[in-house]
Amino acid sequence: MAPQEASWPAILQEIQRNIRSQQFDTWFRNIEVADLSPQALTLRVPNNFYHEWMKRHYVDTIQRAVLAVTGSRPIVEFVVRETPAPVDAAPGAVVPPRPASNLARAEPQRYFPSDWTARLNKQYVFSNFVAGTSNAVAHAAARAIAENPGQAYNPFFLHGGVGLGKTHLIQAITYHLLEHRPDLDLLYLSCENFMNHFISAVQNNEREKFRSIYRNKDVLLIDDIHFLCKGAREVTQEEFFHTFNALYNSGKQIVLSSDSPPQELTKLEERLVSRFKWGLVARIDPPSYEMRLAILKKKAQLRGRVLPDEVLHFIAENVDTSVRDLEGAVIKVVAFSSLTNRPVDMELTREALRDTVERLAATITMDEIIKWVTTHFQIKLCDLQSKRRSQSIAQPRQIAMYLARALTRHSLEEIGGYFGGRDHTTVMHGCERVRKLMECDPSFAGTIEHVTSQLRNKR
Ligand code: ADP
Ligand code: MG
Repeated sequence: MAPQEASWPAILQEIQRNIRSQQFDTWFRNIEVADLSPQALTLRVPNNFYHEWMKRHYVDTIQRAVLAVTGSRPIVEFVVRETPAPVDAAPGAVVPPRPASNLARAEPQRYFPSDWTARLNKQYVFSNFVAGTSNAVAHAAARAIAENPGQAYNPFFLHGGVGLGKTHLIQAITYHLLEHRPDLDLLYLSCENFMNHFISAVQNNEREKFRSIYRNKDVLLIDDIHFLCKGAREVTQEEFFHTFNALYNSGKQIVLSSDSPPQELTKLEERLVSRFKWGLVARIDPPSYEMRLAILKKKAQLRGRVLPDEVLHFIAENVDTSVRDLEGAVIKVVAFSSLTNRPVDMELTREALRDTVERLAATITMDEIIKWVTTHFQIKLCDLQSKRRSQSIAQPRQIAMYLARALTRHSLEEIGGYFGGRDHTTVMHGCERVRKLMECDPSFAGTIEHVTSQLRNKR
């Protein structure tokens, strides 16, 4: 060990003094020092998850400890000990594509591999897709097309924000057709791949070959067609236009996904935009509370986990941006639990999702929650805090407890304290009642969802 590294045990001790023992046990017992100089401290950590986590949460703590012990303030870096299975990646996740550099010199095959099906994500099948109000039309149409390509809706134009399930749905159609219609010649690819393939075909004088590939498909599915607006040269749009016409005129199915509706694809030629609207245009919206809950259950189940209701509700309440983010939250919580060998409970969930929810939780106060409940239900604070158990008081009280649990960082005991010194089991029971009601009464769930976003967006 180099002389400076000898100070590592003392640094560890200093860190131990400054953070909670559980955190220390989780994050610091498993790391080793690889190198320590006045300029740089390199720590060896077990895997990528540790790496990310330490970098985000503990660099400051470590630097302060080093300063206290050695008097220097080195840069803190991490190296991963081995390359373990990526616990924090979605199952079947597609490896990120390599940056598209050197396009001009690349081989055409690169953009059009004969084993294009290898690029599909095995998880993106209909049985893993949760249907609900926000995607009902898109889902029903996708199923109809998978059953009867070229007949039901042509073209099918699917649009919606990032992470809402467009790729999942378009690949689900592809999978279904691959499995049930071996007679059909189909092709799924991203718009970027289509464009790159075309450019290289032009450069290699293979336009005819290109045409014969695309214009003879029975089903052509192109993901992220909005890319045609971004940097596509007119000639590429033109080529796509003719591909479209050829397929359409011979009754072949075209499926397109996009991040915006056709009319907002402003850089596209009008004649293309109007063709996109010939068939069915379906939008996917962000999922409602109920759907978020169903999606979370599904995602946990796909990982062989059953998460406690309280945890599912907490995530559904706090993560309302996209399905991808919901999935990310489940992945974090599950990975955190496996890595630390702790059961998934509220404490672990809050810790795992600290980055995601802390910002929100820190800004919502008990007073704001109480103010909303008392105004909305026209009752007084002293009623909420009283021993009265009539339905007209008990339910608002339970809602207040539920909101406090979901939106603030107060413990069950503290929340009980606010409402007339009730104990933690009463608060748990109250939250449970609200959860059950939300599950079976969508309009009630809607109200709770509405107030949640009101409280969050108050500033
Ligand atoms: P988009 O292409 O719209 O950006 P994706 O299809 O890539 O979004 O979806 C992002 C993630 O969310 C994927 O892992 C996908 O499986 C998941 N997802 C989206 N919508 C649903 C849904 N309705 N049911 C289950 N998973 C979904
Ligand atoms: Mg996508």
